[in-house]
Amino acid sequence: MIFLEDAHDYLLNKIRPLEALPVPLSEAAGLVLSETAHALELVPPFANTAMDGFAVRAADTVNAPVTLKVTGAIAAGDYASKSLATGQAMQIMTGAPLPPGADAVVMVERTNFDPLKQEVEVQITVAEGNHVRQAGEDVRPGDQLCAAGTLLGAGHLGVLASVGFDTVRAFRRPRVGVISTGDELVDDGAPLKLGQIRDSNRRTLLTLVAESGMVPLDLGIIRDNEADLTRAFSNAAESCDAIVSSGGVSMGEFDFVKVVLDRLGEMRWMQIAIKPAKPFAFGLIGQTPVFGLPGNPVSSMVSYELLARPALLKMAGQQCIHRPRRLAVSRDTLGGHDDGKTHFLRVCGKPDETGRWRVGKLGGQGSHQLTAMAQADALAVVPAGQEITPGDEVEIILLGTVMQ
Ligand code: AMP
Ligand code: MG
Repeated sequence: MIFLEDAHDYLLNKIRPLEALPVPLSEAAGLVLSETAHALELVPPFANTAMDGFAVRAADTVNAPVTLKVTGAIAAGDYASKSLATGQAMQIMTGAPLPPGADAVVMVERTNFDPLKQEVEVQITVAEGNHVRQAGEDVRPGDQLCAAGTLLGAGHLGVLASVGFDTVRAFRRPRVGVISTGDELVDDGAPLKLGQIRDSNRRTLLTLVAESGMVPLDLGIIRDNEADLTRAFSNAAESCDAIVSSGGVSMGEFDFVKVVLDRLGEMRWMQIAIKPAKPFAFGLIGQTPVFGLPGNPVSSMVSYELLARPALLKMAGQQCIHRPRRLAVSRDTLGGHDDGKTHFLRVCGKPDETGRWRVGKLGGQGSHQLTAMAQADALAVVPAGQEITPGDEVEIILLGTVMQ
């Protein structure tokens, strides 16, 4: 058996980010920027008002209350063609450019406007720059907006849009083919014959791939024979950036997955000191990484989480490739097995009012029992030989796509 960390290092060393391409901003959410983006424009592009009110010359308000002559109104999107002289004011709406000559804004609540006389009484003295958003106050040409390696989210895309970017250079989103292998698998909803089971791994893995921000490609169930497996894996290596398959990587006698993958690619067959998900295969068919996950439904998910997901995120150019870990207080006894393996147990729980996670062990911890995995908020990590008793701290890996 090898340590999980060694398996990690081995495969992450063989993984490179995909190439970077120009991507329209409209398609860039969730992609990773490949080069630092600098501004070419000012934001705001012109001095404008942060409030609805009256544009004034601050010096005119020194002896407030004062009455000023109103010479116009400026809406957002509009601009004043004439400048403001001493003793004058202009009505102005939030976002509208300050008229030349004005240097401050008095909010409407501190004024009294007489529309008939076109006069405004300004009740307070304001300083120069009052409620004015100066040109370039947020961004100036040359400013760094987003560093290379940024995972583009709403705020980043908004900032890029605010300075007129319509494309960015970003790493390509990996297209990940998902294959189920096994003669026992059925996915057409028909009644099961004796010996058959329904394929659940493809559904979970396609969903995990999509949740990881990749493009999932459903490559179906492939029967456990050389011809079908050879065709499926070679086609997948041509058409995908990575392949995630489940089944056929353990010691089974009728598994042709091993034979075929060894012929097609450079594979390493591993026995990792973890439970579940001990058997794992990784290799390259040409340039295409193949992740051979175990067939048991929980094992395939845990194996994806611990090994395939970080590697796929690296392909997508991401730098933060691991799920968040926390220390939690366990309500139950966990671990205590002397089998030399780190145990990843399905637990549920949440932070208490002090923010401290409290977790309990779910029933049905077998690697074939997917229900507990479906209910799990986290995997508790119990190192080989350790026993966690109620009230002890245990490390957990947070799962799922919800904000943690
Ligand atoms: P294997 O890794 O192929 O030896 O499979 C281990 C166990 O996982 C067996 O009980 C299989 O029937 C089961 N299994 C394999 N593939 C799937 C799948 N796609 N969906 C559900 N169970 C599976
Ligand atoms: Mg099998």
